[in-house]
Amino acid sequence: MGAMAEDARYNARMISVRDAQAHILAQVERAVPPEVIPVGAGLGRVLAEDVRATFDVPPTDNSAVDGYAVRGADIPTSGRRELTVVADLAAGTVFDGTIGPGEALRIMTGAPMPAGADTVYPQELVERSGRAVRIPAGTRGVNVRHRGEDVRSGTVVLPAGRVLRPQELGVAASLGLPQLLVRQKPRVAILSTGDEVAEPGDERKPGQIFDSNRFSLHGLVEAAGGHATDHGIVPDLYDVLHAKLRTAAATADIVLTSGGVSVGDYDLVKAVLQDAGGIDFWQVAMQPGRPLAVGRIGAAHFFGLPGNPVASMLTFHLFVRPALWKLAGRRDLFAPTFHAMAMEAMSKKPGRREFKRGILSYAPGSGGGRWEVRTTGPQGSGILTSMTLANCFVVIEEERGDIAAGETVSVELFSVD
Ligand code: AMP
Ligand code: MG
Repeated sequence: MGAMAEDARYNARMISVRDAQAHILAQVERAVPPEVIPVGAGLGRVLAEDVRATFDVPPTDNSAVDGYAVRGADIPTSGRRELTVVADLAAGTVFDGTIGPGEALRIMTGAPMPAGADTVYPQELVERSGRAVRIPAGTRGVNVRHRGEDVRSGTVVLPAGRVLRPQELGVAASLGLPQLLVRQKPRVAILSTGDEVAEPGDERKPGQIFDSNRFSLHGLVEAAGGHATDHGIVPDLYDVLHAKLRTAAATADIVLTSGGVSVGDYDLVKAVLQDAGGIDFWQVAMQPGRPLAVGRIGAAHFFGLPGNPVASMLTFHLFVRPALWKLAGRRDLFAPTFHAMAMEAMSKKPGRREFKRGILSYAPGSGGGRWEVRTTGPQGSGILTSMTLANCFVVIEEERGDIAAGETVSVELFSVD
């Protein structure tokens, strides 16, 4: 069957990747509600409000080293000078006197600078004997960390929409915060469709394949910061599919199916989703993963992904994850694109965006190295092991044709989230 005939039978809109993404994101009007969580449970969550500092960090000038705090005026220009150590300060204690002329204070890293002193000598540069310490020539003002040099009171340290990485958790804790207001995890219901799809662990009858999509999609949802729920495998039966989609949509922000959107199954899914309304069937100008159904079931966003295992992962990456991230309140919705040199020829049809499974690596060289990318081998969209060999998608834009070895191509890394 030619493309024309197939499209006519499909009655689906041909749409570019960019237009599909824009259309999908326009449907996500607001983020899921916020909740309060302990800072220690915040990894990967998205801030729902700005975090401001209520005090300077560090709160006082303090020593950057273990050593001796002295007055700048006491620093010798040559030779050595002997000062009197007025106290040996233990970590965590504060000296509330003033360092006078000819005096020094023994302090530890992080200890507040005493009044009168503006310079710290590292202990390895001095000679200590009894109450006396001999200091060599040096530079005034060194080895002091200044009040507010990390964070100024009142400034936004972590903006709303920021994903919490380990360093954001540490910064929040350094501001004295035990809890943070973050977005709830978007709830994503996942189900597989198809009479030919069997549950791993069950018997596989002739003509059946084991379900892989539910498991890949579960991992993709969790890795993107969503909360995945498993709704099993649904046979190609109107009533069962209808009931399952309704049930899934009742407790989910996103309903994700795979399979049942290509020509053979199209009528069933279309019929089932007709009452729900607002479902678009698209033919996206991309390879792999052309057929896609997008819309709503009740209040939930619906994505009908292609059944092909590589295509379902790719369409998740391109269309579901940005929507999930917008629901989660994230500011940045797309992973960055990098460039690398194609190390082999790659076939490409102009007019659509193609995605190869790529292996990106850095090749050091004299006068600077370069980033290189090769494909994982056969690129059939059912070859799921190509995803396990790969660490990126090679993205070949619509207007480009065949790629020759040595040309520059775009890549999107799997794990830069
Ligand atoms: P469909 O979109 O339903 O026509 O499916 C396209 C291809 O993907 C067929 O070869 C299906 O057998 C396969 N497929 C569908 N669902 C799954 C699944 N959950 N896991 C693995 N392969 C699947
Ligand atoms: Mg099917």
